[in-house]
Amino acid sequence: MSRTPAVKKGAVLQAEIAKTKLREGEAALWWLGQATFCFKIGEAVVYFDPFYRAEGQKPDTLQEMPLRPDEMTGASLICCSHDHLDHTDPLTLPGAAKASPQAPILLPHLARDVARKAGIPLKRMRVMRGDDAYTADGLHVTALPSAHMGVEYDLEAGHRYLGYVLQGNDVTIYHPGDTQPYVGWRERIDRFTLDVALLPINGNDNLFYPQAVYFCANHRPRVAVPIHYGMFAGNTEDPKKFTDLMAKNVPDQQVKVLRVGERYIYRR
Ligand SMILES: [Zn+2]
Repeated sequence: MSRTPAVKKGAVLQAEIAKTKLREGEAALWWLGQATFCFKIGEAVVYFDPFYRAEGQKPDTLQEMPLRPDEMTGASLICCSHDHLDHTDPLTLPGAAKASPQAPILLPHLARDVARKAGIPLKRMRVMRGDDAYTADGLHVTALPSAHMGVEYDLEAGHRYLGYVLQGNDVTIYHPGDTQPYVGWRERIDRFTLDVALLPINGNDNLFYPQAVYFCANHRPRVAVPIHYGMFAGNTEDPKKFTDLMAKNVPDQQVKVLRVGERYIYRR
């Protein structure tokens, strides 16, 4: 079975990312499939949860992935949310790190161990605990705990699952990685005025789509984007269920359903 083709890919997409110019209050987003993104925020390029599989490479993917690791160039930052394959991938991360040699890699402690085993030097990494922040290149990044299989907290090393709030160029983007709701999440999110919230909808150990709708009813991001579907058979969801329920329950919520490899420019 052939995969869903990406809108843009390879050198064409790479050039588009490099050439995209943004005014104040704008950010560009490219969905690279599942939880993987490229963000351009002002001048800063961020790769989030870099993951790539060619056709036929295991695990089988339903979606064509637009950028090989060596095409993930020009980044000022790489973020990994947690130590699972589709978020901190030992096959993708070393290539992405090499393609963007200036970019520090933000990641939680168990993901650090995955990255070390994959041969990435510790000096490239900034281990985040959750409820801490990193600032560079006009970007302010806050790491927030997430609750993928639940909240897992180690007194010394911090949280196992993280999401990140990326702020720069007068835009605030929230990518929770994988999460379910947890006690204290709401209060943490309430500290921010979210421009774009990327919300997993696949359920299982993640938000179910009605929970993503509920997130919007509570937190009112300017734009909600469903993510984490369309990649693996047996762990996907139809984004139309999300948009339909949103139209019913939060009718004034702006929702953007992205296509993989397509540029979306958010304007405040
Ligand atoms: Zn995941």
